[in-house]
Amino acid sequence: MVPHLHAPQNLPGLSSAGQLSLVHWPHQCEVIRDRIEHIDWTPPRPEPLYTPMGLEMKPSYQPAGEGTVIYLTEEANKDSGFVYSQVRGLSPSKQILHQNGDNTLIFEARFESGNLQKVVKVNEFEYQLTLRTDLYTSKYTQWYYFQVSNTQAGMPYRFTIVNFTKPDSLYKRGMRPLLYSEADAKKHNVGWRRTGNEIKYYRNNAGQGGQQYFSLTWTFQFPHNRDTCYFAHCYPYTYSNLQEYLVAISKDPVKSKFCKIHILCHSLARNIVYVLTITNPHEGDKDTKRKAVILTARVHPGETNTSWIMKGFLDYILGNSGNAQVLRDNFVFKVVPMLNPDGVIVGNHRCSLAGQDLNRKYKSNLKEFYPSIWYTRNMIKRVMEERDILLYCDFHGHNRKKNVFVYGCERKQQAKAPNLHPRVFPLLLSKICPDKFSFPDCRFRVQKSKEGTGRVVMWKMGISNSYTLEASICGSKLGQRRSTHFNTKDLESVGHHFCDALLDYCVPNMKEHEEMVKQQAKVNSEGLNSDVLDRDSSTQTSNSSDSCDLVAHQLKLGTKIKTKTSGEHIHRIAKDRSRESKNTQGIETLHKIFQELDPVGRDLNWGTIPQPIEHFISQNLFLPPTALQEMCYASERGGVRPVSGCHPPKMESRSREKEEKIHHRVKLPITASVKQVGECFRFWFSGSEN
Ligand SMILES: [Zn+2]
Repeated sequence: MVPHLHAPQNLPGLSSAGQLSLVHWPHQCEVIRDRIEHIDWTPPRPEPLYTPMGLEMKPSYQPAGEGTVIYLTEEANKDSGFVYSQVRGLSPSKQILHQNGDNTLIFEARFESGNLQKVVKVNEFEYQLTLRTDLYTSKYTQWYYFQVSNTQAGMPYRFTIVNFTKPDSLYKRGMRPLLYSEADAKKHNVGWRRTGNEIKYYRNNAGQGGQQYFSLTWTFQFPHNRDTCYFAHCYPYTYSNLQEYLVAISKDPVKSKFCKIHILCHSLARNIVYVLTITNPHEGDKDTKRKAVILTARVHPGETNTSWIMKGFLDYILGNSGNAQVLRDNFVFKVVPMLNPDGVIVGNHRCSLAGQDLNRKYKSNLKEFYPSIWYTRNMIKRVMEERDILLYCDFHGHNRKKNVFVYGCERKQQAKAPNLHPRVFPLLLSKICPDKFSFPDCRFRVQKSKEGTGRVVMWKMGISNSYTLEASICGSKLGQRRSTHFNTKDLESVGHHFCDALLDYCVPNMKEHEEMVKQQAKVNSEGLNSDVLDRDSSTQTSNSSDSCDLVAHQLKLGTKIKTKTSGEHIHRIAKDRSRESKNTQGIETLHKIFQELDPVGRDLNWGTIPQPIEHFISQNLFLPPTALQEMCYASERGGVRPVSGCHPPKMESRSREKEEKIHHRVKLPITASVKQVGECFRFWFSGSEN
């Protein structure tokens, strides 16, 4: 029995006085009473990655007995499993081990989402840090978030975290830790920013009995004396942050009309797992025709970036733009913004209080052990009984790869099927979000080890568009955002683009879109030999009536047409393409792209093509998805290539390594002219006709 709350202005768990429901902690957790708050701030420019010099030091692990232990939380993992919870946690009996009157830093992490187990002072400005493993497990160390006070400005501090267990890390590829200074927030309105020099991630000498440990070390200076600062692996987003956000929605007279907040279930520690239902009020029986979109996040507590993406999504969908209206008219959104509140509260990286990775439990019937998973699956089953589910997506953070991408599910036989294909949506997303979302990074395999994930289970339940969205906790390798970190605004923008892609995918007429995808199979084999790159051939007629309708529709809704900068220009062309692809071919669009870039019509040299376009082309983003499929098979038929060194992209590869190599090869030689490129494409297409 899932409890429901009827009055929309009352957030479940909100008292009549408007107080939030108090956070429940495992009984043995000590929690300080200070309220930790951070201001919102976006750096004026994207923050660059760290460039290794090759001279970074690798401080060795200091075994017990060396140095002075100045911070140690003993409650962690005192019990072997979760027993019971209490509101607000245990009040700390003592301050931790610090002496007054010297300049030793004071550490604290006994607050919501905090994670730090132990600190050893190695020398005056050097500290060795140990992270707490996920509660009731002996592994999973990745997420950290702690407070440091008693700072001295301008001194050369070094921190080294010594108990990571993953051999690979984005800290090896330029990622820098986050720093927050309360003084800077107060005086200069500056929030979380990247910090650290001499950053090194390496295997250390702490391992015993086959276990290997890895260190992350960095140097930095505090900006102010006697400041309170914070360090974190990624931008924190706590359960209380979510509750505050939901309270604001529930109190908003407009938003609360189309966003209903209910209790999905309670977690093991008795924290509320919320579910949001977002759709415009409907007339008559029209509602059941609306398809559903299911979104979930924070099954893995340490992947805090996904809460910012979710916030971006919710800001957009609950906003008053015309696009949001259209989406709410056409869909019913079911959103579980935080699947693992207990893990988030205690500062776990991956697990729930059952000591298990919940994203392997979607097949489990152990409702009592994994309530949020069981109830999410149950909710989806119920939704399926009354309406079609267009898309399911679970948001994740990736700790080894850059960019944003998805994992989807695809049957081998489905590869050529002309129905709604799982590659379409990510392809659209990559076009809307070209400097963050990478289509070539997407994977569509169903691996045995992933059978218990939400993505695979929902797909097997019949949802074709079943995805895991993966967002790097570091940054992008693409376009203008190459070698920069993502900030919270970037992450929120991914949530906005997700909405844009949904709109492109289905609105205004989902039926037409399905028809369009079906037709593509035919279109692919018809007219492929026409000289589409001939400048005289008329491609201007490709504005189909339905794409006109959509434009008119959006104009009516007040969508602004902005003054074009070159980046936006390309973006718009790409967006237009997605609509045009309803009845034209990718190759025609390629022609249009070139034409728009070079209206004079001289033979554009590949080398002069601006980087974003090269990126588009190298990713095949201008091709309709079914053409992509065809091209994959063309290569298997062999033959002479019109341009040597120009390899047909192969999307269906056998192993990940092979696939990655192929993606590197996809770039066409820079000397090829447009005409030659066209010949290449025609060659691939004609090869695929047989
Ligand atoms: Zn994850």
